[in-house]
Amino acid sequence: MSSPLLQINDLSYSYHSLTGETYALSHVSFQIQPGEFVAIVGPSGCGKSTLLSLIAGLLTPENGQIVCTSSRIGYMLQRDHLFEWRTIYQNVCLGLEINHCATKEYLTYIDMLLKEYDLDAFRDKYPSELSGGMKQRAALIRTMALKPDLLLLDEPFSALDYQTRLQVSGDICQKIRDANKTALLITHDLSEAISLADRILVLTARPATILDDIGIQLTTTETGPLAARQAPEYGSYFDKLWKELTHGTT
Ligand code: ADP
Ligand code: MG
Repeated sequence: MSSPLLQINDLSYSYHSLTGETYALSHVSFQIQPGEFVAIVGPSGCGKSTLLSLIAGLLTPENGQIVCTSSRIGYMLQRDHLFEWRTIYQNVCLGLEINHCATKEYLTYIDMLLKEYDLDAFRDKYPSELSGGMKQRAALIRTMALKPDLLLLDEPFSALDYQTRLQVSGDICQKIRDANKTALLITHDLSEAISLADRILVLTARPATILDDIGIQLTTTETGPLAARQAPEYGSYFDKLWKELTHGTT
């Protein structure tokens, strides 16, 4: 087995405010291998976003360590956070601008991504002129533009309507796999987790601890979220996850 890209050891975190303390994460440990696509599910408010912010370096662990063999981490949030006053092209180039790396190589890569994500014809449009799915794809290009080795995705599809969500999530995940990236996807949608991930980490209610770590293997000839839902194993994974989230035990 290759060495892990990400190693989380005994991670704990609490928020402190004038009114008190919120214990969000408790002794969380896991590893992610290069190229793995891992989903995280857990009750609302259990500490999922906190975990991602810690991995992204936006928060400092109270206890424990985070070891990532790459410093190239891309973070994509629930809302697309595109700037309305910038065109799509100016939006997707934002990371390069901030990091002072708008070199010919990176700009060529952005051109390639715009074509691949079917947004090339919209590069000079503003976000308000695009559909929700298109904006989400633009946000992903902005994240991918810096060529991250690890992608952190915090409920990136939850602002989309159900039909668009099925299509865009399958599409985006396939692109992430094709590009051989390692990804950590937070979702509250169990079907999405089963159909997209290689592995699912189940968290308990706050403070989050790891309740289960489930490898997903589906027998399908076709790829994509709809095909995955037809796989014979799908139902038993769903039942298991549902019970774990409802009862808080494995
Ligand atoms: P999840 O993403 O699983 O819904 P979060 O990680 O956002 O949960 O939050 C975990 C807990 O920490 C929640 O109870 C939330 O209210 C609290 N929390 C989140 N961010 C802050 C903050 N900046 N200050 C204080 N408490 C926070
Ligand atoms: Mg969250």
